[in-house]
Amino acid sequence: MDDCIIIGGGPAGLTAAIYLSRYHLKIRLFDCGSSRAALIPCTHNHAGYPDGISGLDLLAAMRAQAEQYGTVREAAKVTSLRPIEGGFAARIGDREVRARSVLLATGVINHRPPMPDDVHDAALANGQIRYCPVCDGYEVTDKRVAVYGTGEHGAREALFVRSFTRDVTLIAPDRHDLPPEQIDQLEAAGVVRVEGPATDWRLEQDHILLATPKGPLKFDSLYPALGSHSRSELAVEAGARADPSGCLEVDDHQRTSLPGLFAAGDVAKGLDQISHAMGEAGVAATTIRNMLNAERPLWR
Ligand SMILES: Cc1cc2nc3c(=O)[nH]c(=O)nc-3n(C[C@H](O)[C@H](O)[C@H](O)COP(=O)(O)OP(=O)(O)OC[C@H]3O[C@@H](n4cnc5c(N)ncnc54)[C@H](O)[C@@H]3O)c2cc1C
Repeated sequence: MDDCIIIGGGPAGLTAAIYLSRYHLKIRLFDCGSSRAALIPCTHNHAGYPDGISGLDLLAAMRAQAEQYGTVREAAKVTSLRPIEGGFAARIGDREVRARSVLLATGVINHRPPMPDDVHDAALANGQIRYCPVCDGYEVTDKRVAVYGTGEHGAREALFVRSFTRDVTLIAPDRHDLPPEQIDQLEAAGVVRVEGPATDWRLEQDHILLATPKGPLKFDSLYPALGSHSRSELAVEAGARADPSGCLEVDDHQRTSLPGLFAAGDVAKGLDQISHAMGEAGVAATTIRNMLNAERPLWR
């Protein structure tokens, strides 16, 4: 039986792999290759890279570092997870792999606006679509920006972006559904409200264009604020607790409610950022090491 199975090879899973391998533990990492970090054209808020670094380059460097210390990494999807005597069994295709502990670092998937995939991906690469004002609000300073969403989440995002630029438009996917106090806040901040549906999404040089019932609109960048899907199913099926949005509940050592199962990164409740994912993974890995050592000393 291995010491730990890591499910997910984004910043959280790879950080945990580096720590656990350097603790001389026998681990395996499975990753199905859809890290949100891989979508980052160039991050400028990740400390240590004054000129920025692309998500793909950051992941490649982390993979190389983990492999240098002996991490066994497989490009494969884990399809089920179940508790067994003394640990867990994970299913990969027609095989089952067993370990004394599991770290789930499977991340989330952002809900996308209704636009063709090729237009979406080109816009994302060029900064016309952005998903994270915490990450890159600085890059839209004094630009013309749309937030695509409504409700509490859409309003919160629009007000957050307002501290980077005075030109913010909140576009509803359909009709706006906003409590009166949020309408007051948006008006006080000068955020323009436009009803949807938005159609005919197009790119033009450095702009994103869309048609609304009010007429055509053009922006430097658009932030979808449509929420995300938390990839917590494996843990929930195994018996761990998640909040209503699907985020896994963890304690301050990244332990889920199921003993031996840990979670780190976006799939756990917290700030969806690379630095946070890495920090949580360091805490989880060290707690796993200490837990295994308490069961059976890890002496060489
Ligand atoms: C466009 C964009 C820009 C961003 N910019 C920044 C930025 O500038 N700064 C910043 O700090 N953050 C940024 N973020 C957020 C950042 O990407 C995430 O916070 C970070 O990637 C979270 O890491 P993670 O390891 O938790 O999840 P992820 O990076 O999403 O990795 C999860 C991994 O788990 C794997 N996986 C899922 N299910 C399974 C399964 N069943 N079996 C095997 N593998 C599985 C997936 O394939 C994936 O590789 C950005 C996000 C986006 C979308």
